[in-house]
Amino acid sequence: MSARLVIMGPQGSGKGTQAARIAEHLGVPAISTGDIFRANAKNGTPLGQRAKVFMDAGDLVPDEITNAMVRNRLAEQDAADGFILDGYPRTAAQVGVLDEALASLGTKLDAVVELTAERAELLARLRKRAVLEGRADDTEDAISHRLEIYAEQTAPLTSHYARAGLLVTVNGVGDLDEVTENLLAALAAHLG
Ligand code: ADP
Repeated sequence: MSARLVIMGPQGSGKGTQAARIAEHLGVPAISTGDIFRANAKNGTPLGQRAKVFMDAGDLVPDEITNAMVRNRLAEQDAADGFILDGYPRTAAQVGVLDEALASLGTKLDAVVELTAERAELLARLRKRAVLEGRADDTEDAISHRLEIYAEQTAPLTSHYARAGLLVTVNGVGDLDEVTENLLAALAAHLG
């Protein structure tokens, strides 16, 4: 089963956690743009230094930085037979860049998974995470800003993927194992 996947969902929907679990199950790498940026910021690389200013404010990192990073990562050997992309694309422009990047590698997406949860649930989870993990962008201001950007720029992308027959929507509320099971079942049904 070929699995070139994107996982989408608002901040706090659990997409990072579920991406890692699906990746493990399918034997493909989980590629999280947020994790790559955070690792670079922690190590003080030029990419990390440039991205950190935007991340800490809850803003999107500019496309010229993000797109190149994703193109390079997808061309790596471990992603040749599949991947799950978490945190990209987040804008209509990035959707186009991803399609082109995959086309230039002679391939395309198999499915886009959307995890859903209501705002009150998302806020409760993010506040808890702020205490547990201390992420610089889990302040009240940055959280509402990120949720706003998600609603305005990222959520509308699901209708594009629905029209392309790629969208698989799964309820992100429930215990972790249950969500993973539902997700894998929905994916299996979609991929056939
Ligand atoms: P969250 O989904 O909770 O915002 P992520 O770990 O996915 O967390 O992303 C953290 C930050 O990394 C984002 O707020 C943004 O600054 C940057 N980032 C991640 N992916 C992208 C992207 N596709 N385009 C622009 N910026 C991104």
